[in-house]
Amino acid sequence: MLMPRIYEGSKFGLSIEIFPPKTEQGDELLYKALDRLRAYRPGFVSCTYGAGGTTSKRTVEICRNIQEQMRLTATAHFTCVGSTRQELVDWLTYARENGIQNIMALRGDPPQGQTSFQAVEGGLRNANELVTLIRSTFPDTGIGVAGYPERHPESPDADSDLRYLKAKVDAGADAVFTQLFYVNEHFLRFRDRCAAAGLTVPVVPGIMPITEFARMKRITSLCGSEFPGSLASRLEAVQTDAEAQFEIGVEHAIQQCQELRAEGVPGIHFYVLNKSQACERILESLGFQPEAAEFQLA
Ligand SMILES: Cc1cc2nc3c(=O)[nH]c(=O)nc-3n(C[C@H](O)[C@H](O)[C@H](O)COP(=O)(O)OP(=O)(O)OC[C@H]3O[C@@H](n4cnc5c(N)ncnc54)[C@H](O)[C@@H]3O)c2cc1C
Repeated sequence: MLMPRIYEGSKFGLSIEIFPPKTEQGDELLYKALDRLRAYRPGFVSCTYGAGGTTSKRTVEICRNIQEQMRLTATAHFTCVGSTRQELVDWLTYARENGIQNIMALRGDPPQGQTSFQAVEGGLRNANELVTLIRSTFPDTGIGVAGYPERHPESPDADSDLRYLKAKVDAGADAVFTQLFYVNEHFLRFRDRCAAAGLTVPVVPGIMPITEFARMKRITSLCGSEFPGSLASRLEAVQTDAEAQFEIGVEHAIQQCQELRAEGVPGIHFYVLNKSQACERILESLGFQPEAAEFQLA
């Protein structure tokens, strides 16, 4: 299914983001998790593209498996890092040959050791240029782009960040998927600012349930998302109890998602870290019922 159709009318678009595992055991766990999550009929499952293009073919391979074996729509993430325009077109052609119709178009982070993003000679500088390239190469692609409720770390201010987000949408993006956040007010303000700037595409909140406190601290410090003090204190108090951390994290995510749904968001993009349990709990709290029987793995 093409990305825009997922949010058509009053449909609530559920999407799941995963990453390419590094081991066979990781593969097994991923497909088990997806087998459980597909019972909730996600609009699509997206697979990340490793920093520096390290998983370029693997991302496509996983997306193809998701579509062919699991009968789910896949979205392949794709970045400009380290590739010339011709290499980007070659990858897009490869993805298309493998049945991928939806792309999450990203600039990508600077490679390790570099402080700012430098396009390679003959490459692209920003995600809006990638959106333009995709639209001109395969016009019928569903295109998602990244949005930052708490501002992209390199942005001097929120206004220029929003201006560049609008450039991505004007270049042909179909939907915006946000960076993870733990304080809904940031998203709601961002959504209002997007509307005021004339963005009419779906702006989909990104939610990552906290299931391991230490890991979350690392992730939020990398992406700059505010971590509420009250939540941090509750988690800190149970640092040696993995189960309690999981419960607190899920409870917080449920609260976030219920509030966001009441605010009329078009869908939720879940960063599931290749696991299903937290997401299943959240979906059930939102009233999603699994439809397992129809979905046995081939
Ligand atoms: C939903 C989601 C999925 C992601 N998936 C991946 C992934 O799979 N792999 C991966 O490596 N990373 C991924 N990322 C991270 C992303 O690559 C980084 O956040 C990266 O630093 C910025 O990418 P972008 O597409 O937002 O870039 P851009 O939209 O190009 O923005 C990057 C910075 O440049 C500024 N900018 C944009 N356009 C211009 C312009 N024309 N002139 C001047 N400045 C400009 C922006 O304000 C911003 O500060 C993801 C992020 C999100 C939110």
